[in-house]
Amino acid sequence: LPLLLTPGPLSTAPEVRAAANHDWGSRENDFIELTDRLRRRLVALAGSRELVAVPIQGSGTFAVESMLGTMVPPTGRVLILVNGSYGRRMVEICRRIGRSYRVLECEEDCVPNTSALERLLSKDPLITHVAVVEVETTSGIQNPLAEIAQTVFSAGRRLLVDAMSSFGALTPHHDVVPYDALAASSNKCLEGLPGLAFVIAKKDALSAAVGSAPSLSLDLHDQWQAFEKNGQWRFTPPTQIVAALDRALDLLEAEGGTKARTLRYRNNLSVVRKGMDELGFRAFLPEHLNAPIIATFHPPPGEFDFEAFHRELLALRFAIYPGKLTTKPSFRVGCIGQVFPSDMRDFVNAAAAALDRCRDGEMRNLAYRSAKKDGRVVL
Ligand SMILES: *Cc1c(COP(=O)(O)O)cnc(C)c1O
Repeated sequence: LPLLLTPGPLSTAPEVRAAANHDWGSRENDFIELTDRLRRRLVALAGSRELVAVPIQGSGTFAVESMLGTMVPPTGRVLILVNGSYGRRMVEICRRIGRSYRVLECEEDCVPNTSALERLLSKDPLITHVAVVEVETTSGIQNPLAEIAQTVFSAGRRLLVDAMSSFGALTPHHDVVPYDALAASSNKCLEGLPGLAFVIAKKDALSAAVGSAPSLSLDLHDQWQAFEKNGQWRFTPPTQIVAALDRALDLLEAEGGTKARTLRYRNNLSVVRKGMDELGFRAFLPEHLNAPIIATFHPPPGEFDFEAFHRELLALRFAIYPGKLTTKPSFRVGCIGQVFPSDMRDFVNAAAAALDRCRDGEMRNLAYRSAKKDGRVVL
């Protein structure tokens, strides 16, 4: 099986997968305690007692949708900062659930402009919330969350963060970025298994959001109330995935916490950027904007068939992602999960070999096509 250099699902530790090898009764005390411990550990990572953690069944988007639907009241309006597809996904969610929204968009290789944000907020008093993606996994760009938060709070508005691909590694302490709510999932920097997401919200803001959600299953307030009432999930929980995430948090602690994890990811990124550059793959982002989560690369000059490259890499046991940029062909290499700088070095070697094989394949194709044209090949 390949090593996943993809930002979710990603490569996990054997201990984490082993923790899922057990059946739990969801209404039994053991599981209630497990859920309770997990919720407390998530709050501890976020760093403030004003917060509560509300797990949600499903992938990360379920948490983002529950956050927007519950925290933005039907009478509210959310300004969504967009510089990639996850920002656009929040726009699509608001359109579907009928929340009033506005969009402040910039290019995929630029970060949101805080002066423009400030102007928009002062011009539109109906805006109650600002929603932003901390690391846009489309490109890997790091949005300046602390600076954006400052602007939002100075204007007296509330902040909602999609911290899906950053929570557990980069997310600043709640003292620095006092958001109303933040959405993330088990299967990115926390290196758990996929299928469990969560929102971390300020208790007072969540209490005030009673009856706000347009969805039953994604009502964050009701989900929270169920946990508070008897420690149980409203609907069938992904029991094994909950247990695996608890184990993944042990491994995060053993590694030295979020700082140590970020450092490992940073080393992964720098190995892959440098190695790919030497092979002729230019990075889409300058180094200072590239969060240590995922790197986006341009195809090398000349002919390049991503499908063939992907296939060759897979044969060498590495899985990477196609690009997600709207304007340019690209592909992405994830730096998160149970992968280490030595894996990244192996990946760069595999990429060199895959590139050679693609070029050989192309030469053969060219030779074949021209031979066929000249009538030297009979089918
Ligand atoms: C992965 C991710 C999501 C959620 O995607 P799912 O496929 O639903 O897990 C949302 N936002 C960002 C920034 C992400 O990286």
